[in-house]
Amino acid sequence: MRHLKNMAEWPGNSAATRSIRRKTWTMILRCYECRVRFAIGKITVDRLALAPQVTACKHCGAQPDATTWMKVHHILDMREDTDSPDRSGPSSSSDA
Ligand SMILES: [Zn+2]
Repeated sequence: MRHLKNMAEWPGNSAATRSIRRKTWTMILRCYECRVRFAIGKITVDRLALAPQVTACKHCGAQPDATTWMKVHHILDMREDTDSPDRSGPSSSSDA
């Protein structure tokens, strides 16, 4: 089963994995409380799922409660940060 062997090596420590971990994202959220949009930036990939659950609203200061689904900000949009301080990563995936 070649697939299983490949899966075992994933994600590993390949160049692609490292470059994904270096990336940061800007997330547009809508506050569950005041329903005003706000953006949070510089989120690393491992914190993407966590951000709407732990970031206080910039407008009303509402603190999300991850244990209550109604008290988590809504994710409206997400985009990759382009002003990353680390530009040494390859822009192409030719080294895969
Ligand atoms: Zn709010």
